[in-house]
Amino acid sequence: MKKTKDNFLDVAYFSMEVAINSDMSTYSGGLGVLAGDTLKTFADFKYSAIGITLLHEQGYVEQSLDSKGQQVSKSELWNKEEYLTKLSFTIEVPLGDHSVVCTVWKYEIVGQFGDVVPVYFLDSNLPQNTDYDRTFTSYLYGGDKFYRLCQEQLLGLGGLILLEKLKYNSEKVRIYHLNEGHASFVGLALYEQAKKLFSTNNEVMKYIGSKLVFTTHTPVEAGHDRFSIDYVKKVLPANLFVEIPKECFLKEKLCMTRLSLYFSGIVTGVAKMHEKVTEKMFPEYDIIPVTNGAYHLEWIHPNLKKVYDEYIPEWSIDPSSLRKVISIPDNKIWDAHFDVKKKLIEYVNEFSENKFSADVCTLGYARRFTSYKRPALILADLERLESMIASVGSLQIIFAGKAHPCDERGKKSIKSIFEKIQKHKGKITMVFLEDYNMDMAKKLVAGVDIWLNTPLQRYEASGTSGMKAAFNGVPHLSVLDGWWPEGWTEDVTGWSIGTNSSEARIDNHDSWNLEVDDLYNKLATKILPLYYQDRSGFIRIMKHACALNGSHFNTYRMMNEYVAKVYFPLKNGLNKKW
Ligand SMILES: *Cc1c(COP(=O)(O)O)cnc(C)c1O
Repeated sequence: MKKTKDNFLDVAYFSMEVAINSDMSTYSGGLGVLAGDTLKTFADFKYSAIGITLLHEQGYVEQSLDSKGQQVSKSELWNKEEYLTKLSFTIEVPLGDHSVVCTVWKYEIVGQFGDVVPVYFLDSNLPQNTDYDRTFTSYLYGGDKFYRLCQEQLLGLGGLILLEKLKYNSEKVRIYHLNEGHASFVGLALYEQAKKLFSTNNEVMKYIGSKLVFTTHTPVEAGHDRFSIDYVKKVLPANLFVEIPKECFLKEKLCMTRLSLYFSGIVTGVAKMHEKVTEKMFPEYDIIPVTNGAYHLEWIHPNLKKVYDEYIPEWSIDPSSLRKVISIPDNKIWDAHFDVKKKLIEYVNEFSENKFSADVCTLGYARRFTSYKRPALILADLERLESMIASVGSLQIIFAGKAHPCDERGKKSIKSIFEKIQKHKGKITMVFLEDYNMDMAKKLVAGVDIWLNTPLQRYEASGTSGMKAAFNGVPHLSVLDGWWPEGWTEDVTGWSIGTNSSEARIDNHDSWNLEVDDLYNKLATKILPLYYQDRSGFIRIMKHACALNGSHFNTYRMMNEYVAKVYFPLKNGLNKKW
């Protein structure tokens, strides 16, 4: 398809966090990584698309642990001048009785065929603003509720003002895609604008519905922002406030998720199981599942890329061809993996008092530390783990991940893991690596032997790190949650933990004991024996992980689904809602 140079914008993609690279601290976890991977895919697909986000000049959190394992959180200044170009204009975003002036920084994502997708970062740190207003684009997920509301207003209303400035008014934008509910004011502002274009409410709603897509990401209550009516009244322009639909208020609070549910023509969930969970939460709405993917060019390690280049040269332009990994000779896959693993072990040994060995089966667990993800589940019974290691074969574990500075439970679980590592020093080789980021993720998802995930079932909307591992031939050992029910074939692509009955999956009970038991059983009876006594059997699973899952859980397949199930039906009035 030849790129037509009309002056339409196919997709304006709004996201509070966008992960472009490790040195730009503009993300906290999977939501941002998905946004970055999606925008990179737009560029490869030659879409006219742009990303809109905030600058987050002080980043998210730079993590270190003190001698007791307590997380020390600092801001994470990064060098914006190195990556971004400042645009020549400013925009003014209304906020309460005044406006916040923002300058705009641009990053250019260049796709693998040379096409560019710009990402715009709003920056309110200007001398003409008040001291408080200057901080709005400083901290990702920092500050209090009021601060967050102001940030969301900058992102949503500021994003629309920026689009107008770039000559993309609503007639020129085909799709507004909201990645999570932080930019929900977009729907409200579009509604207010469209009221001037049409005579009936139905026409107005249809018009917005034909352009607005909302992807919801989390079944966790804290993930759905709610702001007190007083706050909203204080900052939101009055002409918008009066248009907020009644059903978006819950207990004197504005629910940002409901605002986007109300105005969007199509709402998507990020995995099939997440669709079901979300439909239970919001029974009035139909959720379209588009299971996430990871961007293969970002997440396949250079060593594996070299092997894929040799056997499947088309893998980079067509990641679905990774299914042919199945026919790559075992030793090629193993040698490439072992090389990455050796480098990872060297890296780990720089930090770890416990010395790791490349010959020992290595488990990796790394992601945001938050209680529903249950990071310490594998350490539930260390005596049992020790006796398994003595009788079946050795095992070493690498942990990493940041807790949000206000998440006391998240910080507590880091401390508890830290203490267990100390206590069992010399008996079980474990380490907690500080300051998890994209670069570290790249080392881990390719260098460990098994990727572990133990969320409380139904709370992991999708999860993407296991997809990154699959790209690199690293099998997944996980509770059946998020994307894993779709990617899991027992003993073929990896292993489940706990129950696989679909009713139980949507049930809201914590089956901790059952899952601990199942995890230990599988390690002792299947995984470690396979690893140590049947290496070719283990490599078969490595190859299937990539061939079956890497070929599917990538952003090219995801983008094709967005086009077929979301963007196309919306544009053509085929969505069911209207
Ligand atoms: C991929 C990634 C995540 C997301 O991990 P989940 O498995 O979805 O929890 C978080 N942080 C970083 C740095 C990542 O690269």
